[in-house]
Order: sequence, then structure tokens, then C-alpha cells
Amino acid sequence: MSTNLSTLETSSLFAQSLTNGQAALQQKAKAFAEEVLMPHELTCEENNGLDEQTLRQINDQVLEWDLNAINHSKKDGGQGLTIFEQMLVNEQLGKVTNALWDTVFQPAYPMRFGTQQQKEEYLIPTNFGKRRDAYAITEENAGSDPSQCGTRADKVDGGYRINGEKWFVTVGDAADYILVHAHVDGDPESPTVFFVDKDLPGVKVKRTPMYTHNFVYEHPEFIFENVYVDEGKMLGEIGSGYNMTKDWFVEARLGIAARCVGAAIRATETANAFVADREQFGQSIRDFQGIEFMLADMAVDITAAKSMLYRTCWELSQSWERKLNHARAAAVKLHCSEMAGRVCDKAVQLLGGRGYMRENPVERLWRDTRVDRIWEGTSEVQRVVIAKQIKKRGLGIYVD
Ligand SMILES: Cc1cc2nc3c(=O)[nH]c(=O)nc-3n(C[C@H](O)[C@H](O)[C@H](O)COP(=O)(O)OP(=O)(O)OC[C@H]3O[C@@H](n4cnc5c(N)ncnc54)[C@H](O)[C@@H]3O)c2cc1C
Repeated sequence: MSTNLSTLETSSLFAQSLTNGQAALQQKAKAFAEEVLMPHELTCEENNGLDEQTLRQINDQVLEWDLNAINHSKKDGGQGLTIFEQMLVNEQLGKVTNALWDTVFQPAYPMRFGTQQQKEEYLIPTNFGKRRDAYAITEENAGSDPSQCGTRADKVDGGYRINGEKWFVTVGDAADYILVHAHVDGDPESPTVFFVDKDLPGVKVKRTPMYTHNFVYEHPEFIFENVYVDEGKMLGEIGSGYNMTKDWFVEARLGIAARCVGAAIRATETANAFVADREQFGQSIRDFQGIEFMLADMAVDITAAKSMLYRTCWELSQSWERKLNHARAAAVKLHCSEMAGRVCDKAVQLLGGRGYMRENPVERLWRDTRVDRIWEGTSEVQRVVIAKQIKKRGLGIYVD
């Protein structure tokens, strides 16, 4: 008989201590993942995306289920969820393959620092699923070190001319505007973000590479050639490009960590059910100690990561201390993404040849979660952040 980890989840003391509202939110996200998103997984895998009509239908359902913009305030048309509540939703969405979680749009955090006019033109319609944003920082020579950004915004009469190239622009195909990180007048001390509508003259897709995963959206490379934007398109002030993204890193890294935990849980549930039914050498393979030990390691890995994730998100929802949060989120992202890699790899192993078939969710979760050790700061960059924080603030911020 297979053991259902979902049941274990709800029977844990911690799960029972969720408020009724939090438990209902968790259940809603689980139902949305299973009923609305999972049915599209195989089509998305086979076609490396979904057709426009299906995407529109999902968009409508995101709104109907009140899962739009969970990370933005109610005033701006979002759901106004705390970091802890966002995590409950993201954990469930992480169980879905092909990054279909990204259809449950969580518009870029820094847009909350926009002017009222920018909110009305960009943030609010995006929170209602009428527009879609993409965020472009990375370039050919500016990856882990974004200070090497070569995209520049030169001051001209009434506005700026943007020139440069951006790589890996997630959702760049579906977005109708891009938040472009550029150095004003080429000065690295002036990193600044601009709203750039995709239909402006001079905005071009250079190419759309294929990646390891079959993501619901693309990650095109863009060229910006003499693109004119007026002064009202600057988000924040000149030089505020990094400061605005600091709190976002916390939110985004915890979001990745939560999805990694969800992915690891689904992979383990699938593997656990498979080994219970599969017989070789005249017996159920789950009775081989080599198999049981893998499952034991997976369960322990998930427990440890989930405990860390829940604790950190709970603490952050109680009080917001920017610098400490940055340090904590780096550790949680590092641990949960590495954990998902280990667990999904074991799940593939437990399923044998079937685990290597793309039609099987464990194979897709294994491929899909690989990027979580790369984007929003690689695992090495998280270690750099953590090591710096230990030097600066002492080991206590991690071990007390
Ligand atoms: C699928 C996908 C989607 C993405 N979406 C977006 C997006 O929407 N917007 C966006 O702006 N970017 C996006 N990115 C870019 C992503 O954030 C970068 O790939 C990532 O930050 C790493 O940069 P890089 O690829 O240039 O690697 P590099 O910085 O060149 O790193 C190469 C290797 O060197 C290591 N390294 C670098 N510096 C150090 C150091 N100080 N110490 C130790 N090791 C180090 C890295 O960890 C890595 O192993 C996306 C990437 C992918 C793959």
C-alpha cells in the first residue's frame, strides 16, 4: 500500500496549526494545481508551450480563483498575501511541471515603487491579467555580476535612448512590456530600470534558444536599438536599479524554494506509489533495503527543507528586516533547490527506465528543477551571500 505524503502533511502538528484561512488557501492552491494546471502538462511538454487560447483560459481561471498577483497589495489589484501565505500557494504550484506555475502570474515586485501613473498603466492591469511583464537584467557579459551591464540609457530631450542586449528574458514571448535594467549614460553607478513596451520601434527579438525544460513560456534574447522612452518610463530614480530589487530577491528566492519543496513532494509521492506496486525478483521492490533507504533519504531531505522554509517564511511575515531577510532567503533558496535536485534524481532512479520517460512527471520535475540552482542567483552566488553575511553579522544569524 502506498503512503500518501499529502496525508502526512495535513496530519503534522505544524499543518494543524495553520489558521483556517491559511489551510483554505493551501487547499485552494492544491486544487488549482491539480484541476486546472496539471491537465495541460503533457501538451505543454510535447509542444514546448501552450496555444494562446488555452493560455487565455488559464488566465481567466487564475482570476476566477483569486490567485492573481498574490504578491501585490489589494489596493493595486493583487491578493495582498503575506510572505508566509505566498509560500503556501507556491509550494502547491511547484508540484506542476513545465513551469505551468508561471501562468499564475506574480508581477515583478519593484513595480510597487512606481508612480501612480505607472501603476495605472502597468502594475494594475498586470495584476488583473490584462498585461504581462518580463524583467531583463542578464546579458552576455553580465550574469552573476550584473554591474557588468552594457545596456545604456542615454539622456536625450524629454527622455532616454536605450541601447543594448538582454538574454534569458523569461516570459519575453508573452509579455507586452519589459522592465529593462540599464546604466544611465553608461555609468555603472547609475543602474536604473525602465518600462519598455515591446512594440516600440527598436525592440527586437534576437533569437529564442531552446532550454533543458519545456517551459510554458520562452526565454528570448532581446536587442534594444535606439529605443526612445520618455522620462515617465523610469521606475524609481536614477541609480535605484539594485535597491529596488533587494526585497524582490527575498520574495523571489523564497518562491523558488517553496516550489522546489512542492516539486520534491510530488516526485516522492510518485516514486513511493510506484515502488509499492512494482515487483521484481518475485517481490515488491519497496522491500529491498536499497530502495527503502532512498525513500528514507528523500523524506528526510524534504522534512528538513520544508521546516527551514516554513520557519523562515513565518519569521519574515512577523517582521521585515531587509538585510537579515536577504541572508536568510539566500540560505533557504540554496538548500531547497539543492534538495530538489537530490530528491528528483532519486525519484527518477526509483522508477528505473520509466523515470527517464518524458511522459512521467518525475522526469519532468527532475529537468524542470535544474534551473532553480541557476536563476535568481546560482548556488555559488547564494554561498557568496551567506559567507559574507557570516563575516559581517556573525554565525548567529544562521545557528541561533
Ligand atoms: C531558464 C532561465 C531563465 C532566466 N530568466 C531570467 C530573466 O527573466 N531575467 C534575467 O535577467 N535573467 C534571467 N536568467 C539569467 C540567470 O539569472 C543567470 O543565468 C544567472 O544569474 C547566472 O548568470 P550566468 O548564466 O551569466 O552565469 P555566470 O555568472 O557566467 O556563472 C557561471 C558559473 O560561474 C559561477 N560563479 C560566478 N560568479 C561566482 C563567484 N563569485 N563565486 C563562485 N562561482 C561563481 C556561477 O555560479 C556559475 O556556476 C535566466 C536564466 C535561465 C537559465
